[in-house]
Amino acid sequence: MNNKKGRVTLIGAGPGDKGLITVKGLEYLKQADVVVYDRLVSRDILLLSPESAELINVGKVMNHHNIPQPEINKILLNKAMEGKNVVRLKGGDPFVFGRGGEELELVTENNIEFEVIPGITSAVSALAYAGIPVTHRDFASSIHFVTGHAKDGLVENIDFNALKDTKGTILFYMGVSTLNQLINGLLEAGMDKNTPCAAVENGTRFNMRTLISTLDNMIKDAEKFQLKSPAVIAVGKVCALGDKFAWFSKSKLFSKKVIVPHALNSNNILSEKLKNYGAEVIDFACMQLKEIEDNKNMVDLVKNIHDYKMIIFASKNSVPYFFKELIRAGKDSRALNGIIIAAFGKTCMQELKKYGINADVSPFEYSIESLALSINKLNINGKKALIYAENDEILRDTLKEKCSDIKEVSAYKIEYLPFDYILPLKEYINQGVVTAFTSSAAVNGFVQAADMEDFRNVKAVCIGQMTYDTAKKYNMQAYMSERADIESLIEKIKEMEQ
Ligand code: SAH
Repeated sequence: MNNKKGRVTLIGAGPGDKGLITVKGLEYLKQADVVVYDRLVSRDILLLSPESAELINVGKVMNHHNIPQPEINKILLNKAMEGKNVVRLKGGDPFVFGRGGEELELVTENNIEFEVIPGITSAVSALAYAGIPVTHRDFASSIHFVTGHAKDGLVENIDFNALKDTKGTILFYMGVSTLNQLINGLLEAGMDKNTPCAAVENGTRFNMRTLISTLDNMIKDAEKFQLKSPAVIAVGKVCALGDKFAWFSKSKLFSKKVIVPHALNSNNILSEKLKNYGAEVIDFACMQLKEIEDNKNMVDLVKNIHDYKMIIFASKNSVPYFFKELIRAGKDSRALNGIIIAAFGKTCMQELKKYGINADVSPFEYSIESLALSINKLNINGKKALIYAENDEILRDTLKEKCSDIKEVSAYKIEYLPFDYILPLKEYINQGVVTAFTSSAAVNGFVQAADMEDFRNVKAVCIGQMTYDTAKKYNMQAYMSERADIESLIEKIKEMEQ
């Protein structure tokens, strides 16, 4: 056994939305060797763990504890004793009905170093996403966090009389199965039957549902609504504001299913943005970018870079591969001094900015024709290098035909991944779910990986002319965003019927 003791960090993962983990929590999570997580931790947050980390699910389902608490405590201890950096990731805040305290007992007894990183607790954030301010000067000046958890079938030690008199906002956690007892408890204590109530299920997630009611109607309404866990139940005047201030569920993308075919190891900005608006994103990792080993053309380009008058980056992904080689050769961005830089598309321009480069040329429209046109307009006499994905033959051939003196340098290759049968792709497509394509490589990747013969039912929303043309080639129902950028693509997705 390793003599060096590891450490344990309790991290609050927040209510589900990936953006709602704290900056510090994320920083620590990214350094974990082991991540011990619960059922309430969203998949999106879990995916932020390092690839190398061991993930241990100790998720508990109500009345059905998968792993007893003492076992969880032991896992934390044992892994830390092995010298591991252990992250205990818990939904919401680790100390708010999260047994965080219990989990630290064994750790402290054994002198293991630990830290606690708070999280955004679900009740407050679920209500915020439902447009219910938990306090309001006119309606509530206190908040009461209460567990609705039942022991032996009865809610534990709730002083309903005291709660009735607070005139604040009461937030019940774990109260779905005991809802009747909670509401009746308040009514029997004499709380006004017209007091507004709310329940927010799956708060901050794409499947969030909000019920607004009153104390005397709540039980009946919740039954009709088929309220399920996880949900927070709120009682207090502020709940009535939910109708007016609801914002998350008002987004045109909220709950909208969108299939996003993408490369496994590249930054999937579209998915991120769609999720922020509450869309249900079906990530379809259909391809993978692979480095070309002993990439002689790239090495030559970097070595003789001043033989070139212009460098054309054909995709955002070609940028990091070029700079990796540049740095490997002991050079940096200064080596591009005096060379005209062309970027194909806005995301490619943005990627170049990360390296301190402002592209000189970028086609107004995302089509090879307009790229060729803007290159030719400059009237450059001399060699141009095109840095592109090896398999992108259409781009290469068209550009070579339309522009003079172009040397092609493949930056990476695209490998298509086998179809993931867990994904009911055909079912979604037949239901009319939109597929969003951010490049023609993604269309090709989708076609290669999708295990389908006929693509006529695919509602393809495409980022620009080239992607649109590729989708058309496969007889998809193609739609094109007004501009060739992610924001415009999202606008187009919003317009689509489902
Ligand atoms: N430590 C957590 C609470 C754990 S108790 C926190 O601070 O949020 C589990 C209860 O939290 C659930 O029964 C439910 O009442 C609430 N909860 C957790 N995630 C939720 C979500 N996304 N939406 C609404 N309620 C949620």
